[in-house]
Amino acid sequence: MGQAKILVVEDEVIVARTIASQLTQLGYIVTGTASSGKVAIAKASATQPELVLMDIILKGEMDGIATASQIREQLDVPIIYLTAYGDDHTLERAKLTQPFGYIVKPFTTKDLRIAIEIGLLKHQLERELRENRDQLATLLNSMSDAVIATNEQGAVTFMNPAAEALTGWQQKDALGNEATKIFHIVDEVTETTLENPVTKVLREQQVVYLGEFTSLITKNGKRIPIGDSASPLKRGSDQINGVVVVFWDLSERRQTKLLEQALEKEQELNRLKSLFISTVSHEFRNPLTVIQTAVELIEMQGANLTDAKRGVYLKRIQGAVQSMEKLMEEVLFMGRAEAEKLIYNPAGLNLENFCRELVEDFSIVESRVCEIVFTCHSENTSAVMDEGLLHYMLINLLSNAVKYSPRGGNIQLDLICDPIEKVAIFYIQDQGMGIPEPDQTRLFESFYRASNVQSIQGTGLGLVIVKRCVDAHRGKISVTSQVGVGTKFTVILPLNSESSLIEAIKEGTESNRKEDLDPT
Ligand code: ATP
Ligand code: MG
Repeated sequence: MGQAKILVVEDEVIVARTIASQLTQLGYIVTGTASSGKVAIAKASATQPELVLMDIILKGEMDGIATASQIREQLDVPIIYLTAYGDDHTLERAKLTQPFGYIVKPFTTKDLRIAIEIGLLKHQLERELRENRDQLATLLNSMSDAVIATNEQGAVTFMNPAAEALTGWQQKDALGNEATKIFHIVDEVTETTLENPVTKVLREQQVVYLGEFTSLITKNGKRIPIGDSASPLKRGSDQINGVVVVFWDLSERRQTKLLEQALEKEQELNRLKSLFISTVSHEFRNPLTVIQTAVELIEMQGANLTDAKRGVYLKRIQGAVQSMEKLMEEVLFMGRAEAEKLIYNPAGLNLENFCRELVEDFSIVESRVCEIVFTCHSENTSAVMDEGLLHYMLINLLSNAVKYSPRGGNIQLDLICDPIEKVAIFYIQDQGMGIPEPDQTRLFESFYRASNVQSIQGTGLGLVIVKRCVDAHRGKISVTSQVGVGTKFTVILPLNSESSLIEAIKEGTESNRKEDLDPT
């Protein structure tokens, strides 16, 4: 190091001079010598030495220890004591001033050099350590994330201001308390207390993270959604010294997420609503045009209108009115379903009888076009379902089968009731035109029509309504189809849709709550 500035405090003038000359020989700068405590303090503050060599025994009011302690208090200068002998009491007092070394008289130049170099190095290291510690403290204090540290028993040893603000605990009150008391966390959904990450880290000896939907319960009982990580503090390679938990408030992020989701939902609803209105008004215009044209033709032809022509025009008008009626009915159904006012009225019914009657009635209307064969594969077909919705569902599926099949096509409706799985399975199969594969996944979207049916009239609402009816029963619908070969729709409904609905409502309330809280 060399060139360090040193103050020598020694009441024996000869000894002081000898030490000063030894120091000069060693390349140090002697800032002065002092023979009493008072002079030493004055010279230390005037000459700002980097080290003080201090005789423990000094003549006068202040001995070396008292002088050293004042110098240490006022200036950050390391002290090395010079001592001929030291009784226990003196040494104990000397220790309190945190000396950087002792040199026992008589000493050689070499002893002096070693003691000074070690003292200076120690002081420099200490200063660096202190600076690091100060930087760390500033960092922890200014951090927006909350930090709690514990010892290896899980008792709190440190909290930064953010942790105080979030937990409601002051560091002074929290110190020494079990971390589980200060950092009490619960599952947001089940409200059960969760295992404290400190306990987990101490057991597993590795970093742990909180699960989703974790809330901190503050000192005054407030619930704050948080995210966190907890890491072991290690001394050496494998010995755990304690745990540090870093956590942060997620309330704002969660709130923003919920708002964003609500906004997105609303935008999507508005988009669908506009699409719905424009498509519906377009669909109404077609039959209206047919009616208008037919009426105009009747008027134009006046007395010349033959009975046969009148019949044709009236039939056209009748057809247009019917399709408007159907469209109206579909729109009303959709409106009710969108407003979640779909009336769902489950009641006991015999599915075999129900299907048989439905097919009979339907065949009266459609018999000219296709043959519909109903087969029941089960003995016991009693169920609890909504007759109205079931009727709507099967009529729509059968209508499609008829509509997209050639004249005289064969259509099958099959029913299986599975008492073990407690479900009813309906198969509606035709040998019609089929659905191109790319269209199959989008059939249940409003107004979606496959690419091969553009010349056939339709709105693209039938299957949406079918899906609503299936959903109301907590059932499932799927389709398999091959162009030119035919299409098969499979509908699976719980036999007792009422009880399955009750279960679903219970599940729904749980999962809805989870969805509402989801930060991801
Ligand atoms: P509507 O609203 O009058 O019922 P739509 O029949 O076109 O009109 P959906 O019943 O929703 O509408 O059917 C959607 C599309 O699915 C149809 O346009 C058609 O492309 C296809 N599709 C449905 N059923 C069949 C089927 N059995 N065979 C072939 N294609 C079908
Ligand atoms: Mg249809």
